[in-house]
Amino acid sequence: MNERSPLANEPSIHPAPATVESATDSSPTAALPDARSQDRLREECGVFGIWGAENAARLTYAGLYSLQHRGQESAGIVTTDGIEFREHRGLGLVSDVFAGSALEKLRGHVAIGHNRYSTTGGSQLQNAQPLVVNYREGKLAIAHNGNLVNALALRDEMEGQGSIFQTTSDTEVILHLIARSNATEIERMIPEALARCQGAYSLVLLAGETLIGARDPRGFRPLCLGRRGDSPVLASETCALDIVGADFVREIEPGEMVLIDRKGVRSIRMFKPESGRACVFELIYFSRPDSVVYGMPVDQVRRNLGRTLAKEHPADADIVISVPDSSNSAALGFAEESGIPFELGLIRNHYVGRTFIAPQQITRDFGVNLKFNPVRRILDGKRVVVVDDSIVRGTTSRSLVAMLRGAGAREVHFRVSSPPIGWSCYYGIDTPNRRELIASSHTVEQIRRYLHVDSLGYLSMEGLRACVERPDGHCYACFNGDYAVRFGEEMDKLAMERGRANVAEMGS
Ligand code: SF4
Repeated sequence: MNERSPLANEPSIHPAPATVESATDSSPTAALPDARSQDRLREECGVFGIWGAENAARLTYAGLYSLQHRGQESAGIVTTDGIEFREHRGLGLVSDVFAGSALEKLRGHVAIGHNRYSTTGGSQLQNAQPLVVNYREGKLAIAHNGNLVNALALRDEMEGQGSIFQTTSDTEVILHLIARSNATEIERMIPEALARCQGAYSLVLLAGETLIGARDPRGFRPLCLGRRGDSPVLASETCALDIVGADFVREIEPGEMVLIDRKGVRSIRMFKPESGRACVFELIYFSRPDSVVYGMPVDQVRRNLGRTLAKEHPADADIVISVPDSSNSAALGFAEESGIPFELGLIRNHYVGRTFIAPQQITRDFGVNLKFNPVRRILDGKRVVVVDDSIVRGTTSRSLVAMLRGAGAREVHFRVSSPPIGWSCYYGIDTPNRRELIASSHTVEQIRRYLHVDSLGYLSMEGLRACVERPDGHCYACFNGDYAVRFGEEMDKLAMERGRANVAEMGS
């Protein structure tokens, strides 16, 4: 048996400034505004990978571009020609990070890419992914969508044994675990490492020339396999396959790992799938409506949510409007079911999403007015049903209602295409502390009064379950507090920075 000291397999993270450039900010530790101050659940991350393509970096850029909604804080691509790894990462949007000649330098026929919105670890450049390490078998790169709930405990343990971490991201924990494995083949090293990880992970990795995809046993976050000619593709959502002209092949199964190399695509069942916990919020809000996620067309699911909502909470009104863009499909479903015409009563400024460059004072001064503008000609004198996908703190919804009334709406009937959010997410979605979720401490009637609406209706849990194909295969924890993988209540995305060992492993 090959005995190794715990440090013998330590990976070394590539030094950030030498090969990692920030396209939009020269400070490698420049932090972004704290997105948790915003009244929205935040998407987590998007991952993409392709094997055997002449222009792998360009295709990965296009894939990341279509996954931009899953993370706007940083982006990165790592390529290989089988000999060298080349990498580029930066803070900001994909188009900013890869402006200029950055893509030209990323030669190679294999690539992985990542869009990040931080769920564990702050918004510094050092945490931008893919992370790349040197370890005893060569080079390894990883891009992670999800959140490990026991990352802090694992990190504490490894630091106690002498490991040195160079980021505050939970993803680095996976790299250390892989590097410390006594196995010698990557198909054994990765399952061995992931067996110690609890929580949510959909991963793409590059090990030498091999592209690898892996998904946690509960399948919290999506990951699919596609094919572009002879080139296999991995992506968080099918919209990224569409943009590169790849056909959808199948989802990576929960607990499955696929290895893609010159021999083709090999599938390895790492773990027995556990009770399915695919994040239902991907279908309600996070994923793009043109994607197919967990085998369901997202637009179709959202229309069904809207239709069911209209049956559960009808309204006597003149028009139905959405809070664009995320509730467009649900509002159309509500309109179709109720027979009330759909109108464009709110117009969204699409460029405000670029909070990376939005001065915070401007955001504070103008609030929701920066993002939405009401169409007075449509709203004036009307009884309006406004459909939104969720209410988090309630502050944005309240401002929107005031805006609609200011534009002449005679009545406002607020409809929500998901149940009340009363619990925080620990599986890769940035949610405020539970105390800040309005539904954790207020009844529907209290929320109605706070929003100042004539009526308020949330979709029921039964209604939500009726709109998905496998109702028992989803996570609904932010609605019902039924967490499949337990954690310390104080776990949040900055826990690694604070170095607080407050994560309790109580996995079911
Ligand atoms: S808690 Fe909510 S947002 Fe988080 S994984 Fe579960 S369903 Fe998705």
